[in-house]
Amino acid sequence: MKIIELFNLKRPVISFEVFPPKPELPLDTVFNTIEKLEKLHPDFISVTYGAGGGIRSRTVDIASEVKNNHKIEALSHLTCITSTIKDIDDILHSLKTENIENILALRGDAPKDTSNQTPSNRDFRYASDLISYIKKTDNFCIGAACYPEGHVETTDKKTDIHNLKLKVDSGVDFLVTQLFFDNSILYSFLEDIRNAGIDCPVSAGIMPVFSTNLIKKLTLMCGATIPKKLIKILNKYESSPEDLTKAGIAYAITQIQDLIANEIQGIHLYTMNKSDHMQEIMKNVPS
Ligand code: FAD
Repeated sequence: MKIIELFNLKRPVISFEVFPPKPELPLDTVFNTIEKLEKLHPDFISVTYGAGGGIRSRTVDIASEVKNNHKIEALSHLTCITSTIKDIDDILHSLKTENIENILALRGDAPKDTSNQTPSNRDFRYASDLISYIKKTDNFCIGAACYPEGHVETTDKKTDIHNLKLKVDSGVDFLVTQLFFDNSILYSFLEDIRNAGIDCPVSAGIMPVFSTNLIKKLTLMCGATIPKKLIKILNKYESSPEDLTKAGIAYAITQIQDLIANEIQGIHLYTMNKSDHMQEIMKNVPS
């Protein structure tokens, strides 16, 4: 089933994101997580795409496990910045063979060691190039990323929304947001993109906080603001991981309940492969 059909059928569409384990770890580690996530009845599960090498084929293997063994819709992430057309053709072929119908099409970030590779000698420069390519190659349902606080490389939000409109017009069916901790930022972003003529469904990316260091690292990387209320929580429970996890889950639940009250089309939970935290959250989320 194409994920866009889910957005047409229900609100909110609930999804989980998992990532492939490190190459030295067996796939069973994430398969166990998926087995537990299945009990929470998500509408789809997405699988991230690693930076390179053998990890990449793991994305298709995991997406296939989701789709073919658990009968849950799978959204397979795919990045293009370091890929050739041949690489992309190979992945599209594997996805087709595994009966996977949904791709989250991304530019990705260039690894530091390819800095001498200029954009002009790459087959794909932006996610929109990948989206146009997939569109003309096959009939996949295509999701893409969006950034309520602007993408880190963009100097102003207006330009970012202009670029997002170009991306959506290249063939995007739905969007998934970068993580954010302040719902008012999302509401203002949604108003801006609707005014810019972007009409496709948007799923809100929520990450429960369970580690002060991890959240500081991630927010530095993606530019998400940590509101004062959350800073207080991080400071209060800095030396008590168990209490921080509880408070982080409670914060995420409050965020999600407010989003649902405001008729959000989708909730996308960044699980960090932690199914127990998702169980706690889903107990408090009306389906
Ligand atoms: P793009 O949409 O191409 O945008 C990148 C930058 O280029 C932006 O600043 C944009 O404003 C600008 N831009 C776009 N089009 C144009 C244009 N025509 N002219 C000028 N400027 C333009 N990374 C991974 O490696 N693996 C994953 O699995 C993964 N999953 C993700 C899932 C989600 C929900 C999100 C939000 C991010 C994910 N990422 C992942 C991170 C993502 O790859 C990075 O954020 C990357 O820097 C941008 O990817 P993009 O697809 O948004 O790029």
